[in-house]
Amino acid sequence: MGRGEPLAETPMPHIPTGDGRQPWRATVLTLFPEMFPGPLGVSLAGQALDAGIWSLDTIFLREFGLGRHRAVDDTPAGGGAGMVMRADVLAAAIDHARTSEPEAPLIYLSPRGEPLNQSIARDLSSGPGALLLCGRFEGIDERVIAGRAMREISIGDYVLSGGELAAMVLLDACVRLLPGVLGAADSLGEESFEQGLLEYPQYTKPREWEGRTIPEILLSGDHGKIAAWRRAEALRLTAERRPDLVPKAPAGAKGKR
Ligand code: SAM
Repeated sequence: MGRGEPLAETPMPHIPTGDGRQPWRATVLTLFPEMFPGPLGVSLAGQALDAGIWSLDTIFLREFGLGRHRAVDDTPAGGGAGMVMRADVLAAAIDHARTSEPEAPLIYLSPRGEPLNQSIARDLSSGPGALLLCGRFEGIDERVIAGRAMREISIGDYVLSGGELAAMVLLDACVRLLPGVLGAADSLGEESFEQGLLEYPQYTKPREWEGRTIPEILLSGDHGKIAAWRRAEALRLTAERRPDLVPKAPAGAKGKR
């Protein structure tokens, strides 16, 4: 699906990119297909979508709903507030998606899942794509999580109204790692989390702004000293803001930074 095109509710044929590579394929199972591509249709992700580096299909869960009202949810077993998405309805939608995506990992966006991080995004982006199930209401029937071997991923310790925004976050993190998406091939390696540390501070023109100047070393032209300063700053910021990350940084990175 390209930007501004009508939303497809069933998977579309996947067209190889100009260099013959198959696109990385995202399929989102949702009650709100109209939310996609949304922010993924602009800037880097949108251009990559148009270029066929990745593809995005949506599957409308309501189409697999039951009865005249196409019900996808029911009251929680044991009582309590809200509604729960039915295992049989979700399984039918997943099985349909699997006919065209037999290999892609099936992910349920869930506040109970493993926290999304750069390593998960990198791992997923190196695979064929992802099938993403977006929950709504009180969530989904536990049995379908096991029954369809879902991986649960969370985007943070807070509760969203639905999995769609979480799916977009995960997709954005994966898509920008795909070959050909970012302009400068080396800009990824120094980003936050890529080497286990937060990124060093960045500056650009003007040289002085509201009395604040760019650190002299960055204007020195001495690339060795600049690299050392950046490593030191990355380590300082990480130790200050995310001390939990420091022990995970590779020994070389820690020594140099
Ligand atoms: N009752 C659930 C609980 O307490 O864990 C929350 C359900 S939430 C209102 C509805 C849906 O939003 C979930 O099924 C999930 O798909 C999505 N969601 C909410 N918070 C999320 C998060 N932090 N990460 C990923 N998905 C989330």
